[in-house]
Amino acid sequence: MGLTLFNTAGPGLEPFVPIRDGHVGLYCCGPTVYNYAHIGNLRTYVFEDVLRRVLERHGYDVAHVMNVTDVGHLTDDADEGEDKMLVGARERGMSVWEIAEFFTRAFFADIGKLNVVPPTTVCRATEHIPEMIELISRLEERGLTYQAGGNVYFSIDAFPRYGELARLDRQELRAGARIAVDSAKRNPHDFVLWFTEGKFEHQAMQWDSPWGRGYPGWHLECSAMSMKYLGEHFDIHCGGVDHVNVHHTNEIAQSEGATGKRWVNYWLHGEFLIMPSGRMGKSEGNMITLSTLEEEGYHALDYRYFLFGAHYRTQLSFSVEALDAARSARASLLEHLRSLAADAPGGPSRELGHDARRALQRIDDAFNDDLNAPRALGLLRAFLKDDTVAAAERLAVAYDTDGVFGLDMQTSLARREQLAPEHAAMIVEREEARKARDFATADALRDRLREAGVVIEDTPSGTKWKIV
Ligand code: AMP
Ligand code: ZN
Repeated sequence: MGLTLFNTAGPGLEPFVPIRDGHVGLYCCGPTVYNYAHIGNLRTYVFEDVLRRVLERHGYDVAHVMNVTDVGHLTDDADEGEDKMLVGARERGMSVWEIAEFFTRAFFADIGKLNVVPPTTVCRATEHIPEMIELISRLEERGLTYQAGGNVYFSIDAFPRYGELARLDRQELRAGARIAVDSAKRNPHDFVLWFTEGKFEHQAMQWDSPWGRGYPGWHLECSAMSMKYLGEHFDIHCGGVDHVNVHHTNEIAQSEGATGKRWVNYWLHGEFLIMPSGRMGKSEGNMITLSTLEEEGYHALDYRYFLFGAHYRTQLSFSVEALDAARSARASLLEHLRSLAADAPGGPSRELGHDARRALQRIDDAFNDDLNAPRALGLLRAFLKDDTVAAAERLAVAYDTDGVFGLDMQTSLARREQLAPEHAAMIVEREEARKARDFATADALRDRLREAGVVIEDTPSGTKWKIV
């Protein structure tokens, strides 16, 4: 079965056909680095990671580009509100440049812990200002811009295909039923390409341009940088669903407006992680970060496993209970693999029999069916239980498909076989306490070990431990 993807810009599910044989150009909107990424943002990057891994499993050479929005952008998609970088910097007593550097590092540390394969190219907005200025000039030459109130705007009425991705109604666009309206805009949906207006007097990031000293509009960076690294026509562009209506719609207007031709073939959008209180957002005040989860004793990969509980195009509700269930499920998967490894001293099998080949095929089919990770995981779990198949073959299928699951199965297993020196010392201490009939100390040590994920069992042949 070939790879089928749901294309927001198309009729729906479509077979994936690359522009250039054997190659895929993939652009994923990256983080705005004025705060930590929350676990909702991270859901989007894990979905994109599964896509990247599936493409590579098909043998494609993937050029995966991600931007880092380190230019201050506004607290509202539609050019309104305060500069987010400035707000972040003010809150933390840092400069905007320091804020950007700090949170860029934090972001890549987070996605690393989630075993997300790093993009082949990471590009920072602040390092691509000339490319953005050039893009505005091209739009200007084609009569798609105007200057008003000190800013340069994109005129959506000069671009008849505006809003096709989001299936926006042109009548409605014209009527402009918007609340906050910048009086300089000819159409309320026009958006800023270049700000020179001294709206934010303390804007620290400013550059010279043909339109005056200022800074670029947010949407511009993705058009300019994707075309620089992937060319004017490439295969796949991804992001979260919230980007369909404004950000991606505006990106298309800028890119196709400048080149006069189709820009991206497949648009993929990941659905939201939601909280009982509604959507999780940096501005909604209900943010949970990966570090928070780690502080609560979860492993980052417990969260990755949790994400496989729903297809990327359906909303996923976050709850502690669901995350606990994912943690237990991942522990039981590793336990299962451990027992299979014990029954397969020669390691995973190189040759697969009919049943294992069929299981592998079905798991691949699930991934090929618009990245259906929940179904793929269910199939793997069921197959691992099939005692009629040799342990070595089951292990081989698990490790092979982990190339897409990215659950780091082999390494996690090896880690579970090793006891940290401080935990080994606690076990010895506990045995001594027991010998001295100091059961209170022994029990306290057992509880502390349990919290650290080490389970103790006293057997007639001595104390046994297990890492869960
Ligand atoms: P931002 O850093 O705010 O630009 O967001 C980074 C990515 O996370 C974008 O692709 C957003 O669409 C996505 N995103 C934002 N909130 C959520 C959420 N609650 N669940 C899943 N993805 C989200
Ligand atoms: Zn973008």
